[in-house]
Amino acid sequence: MNRAGFYNFDLETVDRPRLRELQDERLHALLREIGDNQFYQEKFHIAGIPIEEIGTLEELKKIPFTTKSDLIAEQQTHPPYGRLLTYPITRYRYLHQTSGTTFQPIKSLDTKEDWEGWLRCWGYVYRAAGVREDDLVFCAFSFGPYISHWAAIEGARHIGALALSGGGLNSEQRLRQIIDNRCTVLVCTPTYALHLAEVAASLGIDLRKSAIRISIHAGEPGASVPAVKQCIEREWGAESFDHAGATEVGAWAFDCQARSGSIHLNELEFAFEVIDPETHKPAEPGTRGELVITNLTRTGMPVLRYRTGDLVELDIEPCACGRSLNRIRGGVLGRADDMLIVRGVNLYPAVIDNLLRGCPGVAEYEVEIRRIGGMDELLLKIEARNGEPFSSIERAVLAEFRSQLNIRVGVTEAAAGSLPRYEFKARRYKRVAG
Ligand SMILES: [Zn+2]
Repeated sequence: MNRAGFYNFDLETVDRPRLRELQDERLHALLREIGDNQFYQEKFHIAGIPIEEIGTLEELKKIPFTTKSDLIAEQQTHPPYGRLLTYPITRYRYLHQTSGTTFQPIKSLDTKEDWEGWLRCWGYVYRAAGVREDDLVFCAFSFGPYISHWAAIEGARHIGALALSGGGLNSEQRLRQIIDNRCTVLVCTPTYALHLAEVAASLGIDLRKSAIRISIHAGEPGASVPAVKQCIEREWGAESFDHAGATEVGAWAFDCQARSGSIHLNELEFAFEVIDPETHKPAEPGTRGELVITNLTRTGMPVLRYRTGDLVELDIEPCACGRSLNRIRGGVLGRADDMLIVRGVNLYPAVIDNLLRGCPGVAEYEVEIRRIGGMDELLLKIEARNGEPFSSIERAVLAEFRSQLNIRVGVTEAAAGSLPRYEFKARRYKRVAG
């Protein structure tokens, strides 16, 4: 087996029973370490279980879930950081916060050791995608207080690659940096990779001739959505890889070179449960459920049994890459709160994204959702790619929605360049009054 594609070959290929033991050992050590964390002290106290009585992941199931609202409420009640910190503030080196597009922002603090954990997690992401010491990684992010941007760039340096920040630049300047420096790896959101391709086309730059050979995408499910992945790979002439993470948790999943459509859960740094979001009972492997994550190594501001809101399908089949780490099929499929109900059909944005990106000629789109009588009606506003007649795009889109989803949608043309382009997470779905 090719060890070069691994961050830690021995751990990533450890057999499942030993992996479970290792997770319990790590959890045990974490729980012994976080005894002074008031937030969890209270949680264990309310559950009536002394923290020192919990030694395994199975036993941890006795404590209630933690939610994003818990963390937000905690920081609002006890500003600025809540009682979420295990150590005195002087132990911490890194302060980040979430973008707060849908929720109040969460402030996240890391000690030096916890930050090293972030870099390890990115080490898994990069190595599994085939990134090497001789690569030059370009991070096309605006930076700011967002953790993933800093972890991505520091993570690249951690594995010995060169890394270049794309902060404070517009799209054209970023493209020039990529070309001039002969960058070989691109890290950005899937939406932004497609936007850069559009800008490149308008400037007459052929990205397929650039040195980019690998692209890694986070922030949105796109790189596991087949049609989006194909679009990015076609435009850039590179192999694209998905990755998933969250500020309050860590960089918890990575894609591998088996290119199976499933991505690996990093069970070395985190423990995972998939639950039925209604009953909270474990979901059967292969059925859709909400992902719940427990930190095994991040002690400064850990989450235990954290309900991510991400919907996933657990894949326990062995992967061709040789890793024993479980996977989730199709990456993050959507968020529980993103579900649309269109004429009785439950739909997630990723499904619509897959369908529209599979229709040639769609440059950008926005979806207007109108709830009428408990049902969502969709109006798709579509920008045509240069020179493509809108009527043929409209015909193709309507036919795809009819044949693949058996639903009728409205389609209207948006003027070229009129829809917003996003640098980070796209917000293409807009609810309007019914
Ligand atoms: Zn694999």
